[in-house]
Amino acid sequence: MLGQMQDWPLLIHRILDYAEAQHPHRAVISRSVEGPMHRTTYAEIHERARRLAKRLERDSIRAGDRVATLAWNTWRHLEAWYGITGVGAVYHTVNPRLFEDQIAYIINHAEDRILLLDLTFVPLVERLAEDLPTIERFVILTDAAHMPQTNLRDAVAYEAWIAEADADFAWARLDENAAAGLCYTSGTTGKPKGVLYSHRSNVLHAMANNSPDYIGLRSRDVAMPVVPLFHANSWSLAFLAPMTGAGLVLPGPRLDGASLHELLERADVTVTAGVPTVWLGLLQHLDATGRRLAHLRRILIGGSACPRAMIERFERDYGVAVMHAWGMTEMSPIGSFCALKPEVERLDEASSLDLKTKQGYPPFGVEFRLTDDSGSDLPWDGTTLGRLKVAGPAVAKAYFRDGTPILDDRGFFDTGDIVTIDPNGYMSITDRSKDVIKSGGEWISSIELENLAVGHPDVAEAAVIGIAHPKWDERPLLVVVPKAGRTPEKAEILAFMRPSIAKWWLPDDVVLVEEIPHTATGKIQKTTLRDQFRDYQWP
Ligand code: ADP
Repeated sequence: MLGQMQDWPLLIHRILDYAEAQHPHRAVISRSVEGPMHRTTYAEIHERARRLAKRLERDSIRAGDRVATLAWNTWRHLEAWYGITGVGAVYHTVNPRLFEDQIAYIINHAEDRILLLDLTFVPLVERLAEDLPTIERFVILTDAAHMPQTNLRDAVAYEAWIAEADADFAWARLDENAAAGLCYTSGTTGKPKGVLYSHRSNVLHAMANNSPDYIGLRSRDVAMPVVPLFHANSWSLAFLAPMTGAGLVLPGPRLDGASLHELLERADVTVTAGVPTVWLGLLQHLDATGRRLAHLRRILIGGSACPRAMIERFERDYGVAVMHAWGMTEMSPIGSFCALKPEVERLDEASSLDLKTKQGYPPFGVEFRLTDDSGSDLPWDGTTLGRLKVAGPAVAKAYFRDGTPILDDRGFFDTGDIVTIDPNGYMSITDRSKDVIKSGGEWISSIELENLAVGHPDVAEAAVIGIAHPKWDERPLLVVVPKAGRTPEKAEILAFMRPSIAKWWLPDDVVLVEEIPHTATGKIQKTTLRDQFRDYQWP
């Protein structure tokens, strides 16, 4: 017997319909790529998204076609998402920080038909254009006054192009399982792989993340996703803000500490989200200027491990609650939040900080399994290391146009992360399986060592890699970027770390460098770092 409730497909553009009906005047403030600040509302975005959908339809874009964006977080990028999905097509967010050959590869692999690009990326796309045979039209996200001279075939200014259509457009009628978005993993190994989100997975994922225990947005909040729209759905904030009626602030191309601070203060931002390196920049700016954070309440930090010292500084010095989150492109992307359950609510300050460095537990809609290499379940005792496997309605079951099976025989996806899960359900990542350091047959957590090293007052950033060792197989090498103007002694850093770890975990050497390489999504690029230190000899 079936239930007798309405069939109301979970479609992304319904989020915008809701925002237009209930929160039409809520502000969406962007730093434009052209420079000035720009202010609009959900009502206007709703109107312009329908124009865009109608214009796309006139270019014969049909359900399932892919439309690429190569753009920063701005109102135009946001309305493009809704307009593209509103005609039934699929937004393909291209990460401009990928290598150029990877950008060409993914656009061709996706067979994108239209490319919407920011002014910033015109030179890049001009270099690649000959290798992008599927692109029929280049649309530059600007107005006629700012259109650059370009040799891109038939390039048009976005504003002039959507002005050719009116907003009298009825959204496509779609199945909620229809494809909505496409995002490629940054492919630290092998070619980038496409993850194809559905309307349903995006809507459910956003709803599940908004419990007050997790992101908890409400209409009186102002949310600033510093995490780019091209980094796995901006961790659902571009859906969540209109879904809850929260205001939105979009930081455009300027993600340095001073620019972010200016927006946080001027636009009264209450909730923000981004990777640790971005917040490192903000903290350095606050240190250098003595400025404060007047409105910010919560900050969502993920993408790589959030150091304990960062959580401590935001919470103790600025009164901003840090919510550590973990996820992957394949998971839409959020898989867990480190929110406090009653079981751990009364910890003393130091233990509470220790807990918050864990990646946390999943919201409803994500299932965890901890297994050994053969797939047998391991205990959730907080010490047994195993592979983290996940399942849920917003977890990928395959890669786009790739026949390789990615689920195990129980339907779970192997995240490639090596973790422990404690009896309260809190997961803690030791390493990516490919980065784990094996010394004398035992695992050493590079994440834990990095976390500890950045707690040293002279250390800005740290990375730990395993280097071959004649006796122990591999030993940890600590690579450190000192804070500006500081030159810490190696012995001093090691002495600082020694009391907090097992003796055999202590790195065998420390190397000071000016810069540590990062991936397109802001993670430490261990493969490149290992290459850089290939010829390293232990002292
Ligand atoms: P990429 O394509 O760069 O792999 P993802 O964003 O999908 O992009 O990367 C997912 C991986 O990032 C996770 O499997 C995990 O190893 C790492 N990661 C994400 N968030 C965290 C976190 N909070 N702590 C530690 N590692 C994290």
